[in-house]
Amino acid sequence: MDFLSSLSTELRHIEADGLLRRRRVLECATSVRVVEDGREYLSFCSNDYLGLAGHPALVEALQHAAAQYGVGAGASHLVSGHGAAHHELETALAAFTGQPAALLFSTGYMANLAIVTALVGRDDEIFADKLNHASLNDAALLSRARFTRYPHLDLAALEQRLAASQARRKLVVTDAVFSMDGDIAPVPELLMLCERYDALLLLDDAHGFGVLGSGGRGVLEYFGVTSERIVYMATLGKAAGVFGAFVAGSATLVDYLLQRARPYIYTTAMPPSLAAVLSASLRLIDGEAWRRERLQALATTLKQGLNLRRWRLMPSTTPIQPVIIGGNDAVLAVSEALRQRGIWVPAIRPPTVPKGEARLRISLSAAHGLEDVALLAATLNELEKI
Ligand SMILES: *Cc1c(COP(=O)(O)O)cnc(C)c1O
Repeated sequence: MDFLSSLSTELRHIEADGLLRRRRVLECATSVRVVEDGREYLSFCSNDYLGLAGHPALVEALQHAAAQYGVGAGASHLVSGHGAAHHELETALAAFTGQPAALLFSTGYMANLAIVTALVGRDDEIFADKLNHASLNDAALLSRARFTRYPHLDLAALEQRLAASQARRKLVVTDAVFSMDGDIAPVPELLMLCERYDALLLLDDAHGFGVLGSGGRGVLEYFGVTSERIVYMATLGKAAGVFGAFVAGSATLVDYLLQRARPYIYTTAMPPSLAAVLSASLRLIDGEAWRRERLQALATTLKQGLNLRRWRLMPSTTPIQPVIIGGNDAVLAVSEALRQRGIWVPAIRPPTVPKGEARLRISLSAAHGLEDVALLAATLNELEKI
């Protein structure tokens, strides 16, 4: 069995490089206190930025919705799986993001595959930030469009490539908040370039939706921009605390995706009960601004508490607060030492981040207390000295 033995050889190489990934089995998890093997950890791992994933009102909404709609949609949206709960959620998402229309997906990964493969093909070109999420890169490959990547946030390099392009359609694709760095894409400048070169701008706001802007409407509210050229995409499994994703934009865009986006057409619709919970979650995002204010206070506490020499907290104004450690083994050792002290922060290694920039990815949640973050900072200060 050469095939299978080649797989085990590769697995051994992954382990030897310090890159083997393991899943932890959690017995009980809210966003910030998790129990594994009977031991409780203070967690800084979750993307549940607003602390909504365990919110009692949402748990109750799910119970009600399951009683009303059952547990499965039973078909794809274009057959008979599109129910009142989905429809209401799409309408609410469009209104919340200030866009004419919205279309719901089961995951952000699928939404990105759907959007990119529907909008561009062989005669077209995609211009992508080097640090974009893997789903956007996979989508680009699947689309068969020319795939041109530009250095992270380098607008001059992007403009050069746009100017040189002979493509029929041009699509600029970027994370709005970069998932491993926590920095924010310069949307107004990107939009100007898209106007100059007749491109569309796909913004993946997985980490900005619910978090950025005083109303939590995401990166467009943060910058105060809107444009028909923008294809706005966000996920609902992070700040919204549930599951799913959506795209919002012009009515033409959404009509077109409905006809052409294969990962939309050929898949079962999200369970309607989840759609109903998401509508409730959206009301909490809208109504509870204190959750965003708490996130700001937590980030400030972290910055003020850390006193690092060799390691480096990256500049970030979002709940993603990475600390660069450097090597793969070093970051694993720090992550393990934190765990021994009851604190769980994930170690992020290549290929997710560039070689030599392995890091702790601290993610903050409105469910954290200021004292939780102060404890993390003090523990990191102490570990750096060892
Ligand atoms: C998490 C994430 C996705 C994928 O969303 P899922 O709903 O988890 O599939 C896409 N893009 C970015 C930037 C993400 O962080």
